[in-house]
Amino acid sequence: MTSQRIPETTGGREPLKANAFERAQISNTQLLPLFPYVHPGAIVPCCAAFESDGGETDTGYFIHENSVDELALCFGSNGQMRVGDVWVGPRRHGVGDWPGGDHFFAMMTVTQRQLEEGEQTESLTFQCEACNAEVFHYAFGQAEGEGGHFGGMATIMAGDPFVLPYNGSEEMRTCKSCGHVNKIFPYWIWGWGNYIRNTRIVENAWNTLTKETTK
Ligand SMILES: [Zn+2]
Repeated sequence: MTSQRIPETTGGREPLKANAFERAQISNTQLLPLFPYVHPGAIVPCCAAFESDGGETDTGYFIHENSVDELALCFGSNGQMRVGDVWVGPRRHGVGDWPGGDHFFAMMTVTQRQLEEGEQTESLTFQCEACNAEVFHYAFGQAEGEGGHFGGMATIMAGDPFVLPYNGSEEMRTCKSCGHVNKIFPYWIWGWGNYIRNTRIVENAWNTLTKETTK
């Protein structure tokens, strides 16, 4: 009888498990990688928990484009997504909801399959709320998340250069096509700034620790 076995690990990427609900509860960011593997070739399941009150507190909306597939799995929701829904969207897809949408919550994982080799490009785009024209576009590669001992998920690390200039400038949020002044993006719901700041802090802390212990 032939036995089918998953090959032994070769080191550097030991098997780990995580409860997506528990991670979503304590996460500091949307799209938190469940495991510390975000490098080229990694399969990166990330958790997210969204809620909109159906009124003023919408999640914001932007377009994400990735040169690899992303697979979403809904663990629980009361909205358009149903429990157990799995889908692979187009590589250019909307994220979040428009103002005035219905009340909903959703807890899900989004899994990115990082490119084995070559340049994996991504971009984030804000569209005009009034006419859908492109208002601000930020393109980046995996280098956005590289560097140091820990590194970070490139998609999240791009949050600050995408959102901060946009939120900080009414001129930038003004649509060149129709003149509409778009409202600021509710960055606090996404938490990317927390993740970016913590990535920087743990990197610096790790450097001081390893410097001390190698003296
Ligand atoms: Zn417009």
